[in-house]
Amino acid sequence: MRFNILEIVRQGLSGNSGWGPHWRSPDPKPEYDVVIVGGGGHGLATAFYLAKEHGITNVALLEKGYLGGGNVGRNTTIVRANYMLPGNSEFYSHSLKLWEGMEQELNYNAMMSQRGIYNLFHSDGQRDAYARRGNQMISQGDDAELLDRAAVRRRLPFLDHDNARFPVIGALYHGRGGTARHDAVAWGYARGADRRGVDLIQNCEVIGIDIEGGRVRGVQTTRGAIRAKKVALVTAGRSSQTAAMAGLRLPIESHVLQAFVSEGLKPLIDCVVTFGMGHFYISQSDKGGLVFGGDLDFYASYAARGNLPMAEHVMEAGMALMPMIGQARVLRSWGGIMDMTPDGSPIIDKTDIRGLYLDCGWCYGGFKAVPGSGFSLAHLVATDRHHAPAARFRLDRFARGAVIDEEATGSQHNLH
Ligand SMILES: Cc1cc2nc3c(=O)[nH]c(=O)nc-3n(C[C@H](O)[C@H](O)[C@H](O)COP(=O)(O)OP(=O)(O)OC[C@H]3O[C@@H](n4cnc5c(N)ncnc54)[C@H](O)[C@@H]3O)c2cc1C
Repeated sequence: MRFNILEIVRQGLSGNSGWGPHWRSPDPKPEYDVVIVGGGGHGLATAFYLAKEHGITNVALLEKGYLGGGNVGRNTTIVRANYMLPGNSEFYSHSLKLWEGMEQELNYNAMMSQRGIYNLFHSDGQRDAYARRGNQMISQGDDAELLDRAAVRRRLPFLDHDNARFPVIGALYHGRGGTARHDAVAWGYARGADRRGVDLIQNCEVIGIDIEGGRVRGVQTTRGAIRAKKVALVTAGRSSQTAAMAGLRLPIESHVLQAFVSEGLKPLIDCVVTFGMGHFYISQSDKGGLVFGGDLDFYASYAARGNLPMAEHVMEAGMALMPMIGQARVLRSWGGIMDMTPDGSPIIDKTDIRGLYLDCGWCYGGFKAVPGSGFSLAHLVATDRHHAPAARFRLDRFARGAVIDEEATGSQHNLH
């Protein structure tokens, strides 16, 4: 099923009754060249790029629930390339370029909206740090603009600029950043992979990994055993559990991140804003809801729901930044399980078990990484060589001390 103007008109005139499913629902075959475990954004993008870039189509993607039911459908949809450290900087720069061509590549409206991101700063020290970050972004080839107090006041009049504790003194503006419709990204990659022959198998949980003589041989699932020459674990918040099936202990803790959406309001915020003195970020969805989030729940957990103290913490930060938000009603909140590494940066690597690959540790920033991660993991699985922009995301960097600690908070998972 492809979209084009003629088809949309034809369907519109016939009551939209002729749209078919976007992907097949095949039964698993006994054997594949590659099995991808996890049907989130990263797994789906990997399947797509394996087929498109490398011609590898004898691939099964196994998802224990439904496609897009994990974090890819739970995030606050912010896409950006404003990282500073080598490793992250080139990777997210590459990923943003893929975002910019994604809708054409997939022929799918992912509602990619480069509406711009403002990272507010509230002190001289913070301004210096953002100036440095902006320079790094520009030298990587991305865009950044340092705005003074007057410019931010003009562009974002709804903020409390003169808050006694946290006055807004400027912002780092990243115009190519923005938001995208998260489910549509998953659906677009799913359809693209399916059309190229990948089997997308839902309600199929991987419960064991078969290893013989130091090499992966396949997986055990709730729908039977499946043999495979290569297996990629792309299970986000569940990564420690799936890796444990292969006897691996990952340097990952799983924590809940919550998000919130208000009732639909008239257009108010046409960009993304992040508060520099509290973990609070906000945008407005195309339906009108204010979409906002904050910090991690501080304890490790596999519950995909949050708690009230963190809800209160996020609301307080929102009230400090833009007090009129107090008049909006919160419609709903939800949580997702974040795969937190000790340095806050991800892992895309081979393991010591031949044919077994890892893609995890995306912390709370993996939505923007979806195309880049899929592209780089597909490259690694297909060629057994690291894709240059992701070459520093090695598992052994924690043993070597070559960490990529973007937030400079030290090795405490929940602080990144
Ligand atoms: C509230 C919230 C806000 C966020 N905001 C942003 C943001 O603004 N910008 C940003 O860049 N990132 C954001 N993120 C992070 C981002 O959503 C994640 O880092 C990213 O989605 C993780 O990759 P994924 O899409 O592949 O994960 P998922 O969608 O979670 O995919 C993993 C899949 O693996 C499946 N799975 C697990 N175990 C098994 C098994 N044994 N067998 C088969 N399948 C299995 C799961 O069911 C799941 O579908 C946010 C996350 C949350 C929760």
